[in-house]
Amino acid sequence: MKFEVNEIKAIVAHELGHWHNNDQYKIMLFLSLEFAFVFYLFSLVINNITILKSFGFLEKSNFASLVIFMKFYEILIFLTGKLQTAFIRRLEFKAD
Ligand SMILES: [Zn+2]
Repeated sequence: MKFEVNEIKAIVAHELGHWHNNDQYKIMLFLSLEFAFVFYLFSLVINNITILKSFGFLEKSNFASLVIFMKFYEILIFLTGKLQTAFIRRLEFKAD
């Protein structure tokens, strides 16, 4: 793959734009908050006997809790993925 000098300058300038805008810290904070939120939700689900019984389990089970949470997480990751994409795109436009 071969690039023109102006293309390389544009790429380097874009990456410097990320550095100038402190995007690495913004992304780290965003992902930390997202992970904290996911772990908080998991803490609500793990070994919650009401939720476990609604899925047919008769007693507490870490494994069953994890499987149930992963089903909810599929929906959650779809929603947070949209938010994450919007956030990253905003940073990309600002870096240009
Ligand atoms: Zn970028």
